[in-house]
Amino acid sequence: MAKAVKSSRTTLKRLPEKARTDVATLHAVLDAGLVAHVGVMDHGQPIVIPVGYARDQAKILIHGSAASRLFKLLESGSPACVTVTILDGLVLARSLFESSMNYRSAIIFGTATRISGPAELDALKVITEHLMPGRWDHARQPSPKELKATMTLALPLTEYSIKISEGPPGDADEDLTSDAGKAIWAGHIPIYEQFGDPIPDQFVPPGTPIPDYVTKWSR
Ligand SMILES: Cc1cc2nc3c(=O)[nH]c(=O)nc-3n(C[C@H](O)[C@H](O)[C@H](O)COP(=O)(O)OP(=O)(O)OC[C@H]3O[C@@H](n4cnc5c(N)ncnc54)[C@H](O)[C@@H]3O)c2cc1C
Repeated sequence: MAKAVKSSRTTLKRLPEKARTDVATLHAVLDAGLVAHVGVMDHGQPIVIPVGYARDQAKILIHGSAASRLFKLLESGSPACVTVTILDGLVLARSLFESSMNYRSAIIFGTATRISGPAELDALKVITEHLMPGRWDHARQPSPKELKATMTLALPLTEYSIKISEGPPGDADEDLTSDAGKAIWAGHIPIYEQFGDPIPDQFVPPGTPIPDYVTKWSR
């Protein structure tokens, strides 16, 4: 397993007390998320593109169209910055200044490597099973033509930062003690992700049961 790198660009300067550095927390944040925002430079223009992803051991895996600008830039070795954000709540402080959000976020710097051959199918399975557990064995497998149209990339989880914000607001003392401050409700409101009831498309014969593995999904 590649060793984690501590670098100046992954050291939190703003609110460093919210930093975490242990790899177990990194894995927990990545395993809780579904969407990563991938940033690269395109001819001097920063672009940040959201994609689904999965963690595989000490790598983050993404896949997309082989014709995609993002994937071609990454394949060519463009330095990348990948961000995963889990929004956990709104923080209503007495002052607007201290009002904020609760979250878990991870930022990974690195360069992607293309995965091809039989290893690509393994990587696609990991991505599918992270995003849609149980689906790999149920849905039709990718055809050679579909695989050709797909690019699968891995980034090592070596240079990363984690920032976690949790709990109640941190109001200034004067807002906690003044009559005006005491009159303002404050606290935090958790935000949870939740799956809705599955909705079959129009081609599913009526009465077809929803697959067991889908009914077990929870968020
Ligand atoms: C859902 C959400 C909402 C936010 N809303 C705001 C907002 O409205 N205003 C605001 O100022 N900030 C907000 N933040 C915090 C924001 O992400 C930055 O941490 C903060 O703005 C400081 O940025 P900076 O570039 O000065 O950080 P620095 O501390 O200078 O960054 C240095 C290094 O620390 C790491 N780092 C910084 N921020 C994060 C992070 N969030 N997660 C993981 N690693 C990080 C990176 O590796 C970065 O290169 C929010 C964060 C989240 C997740």
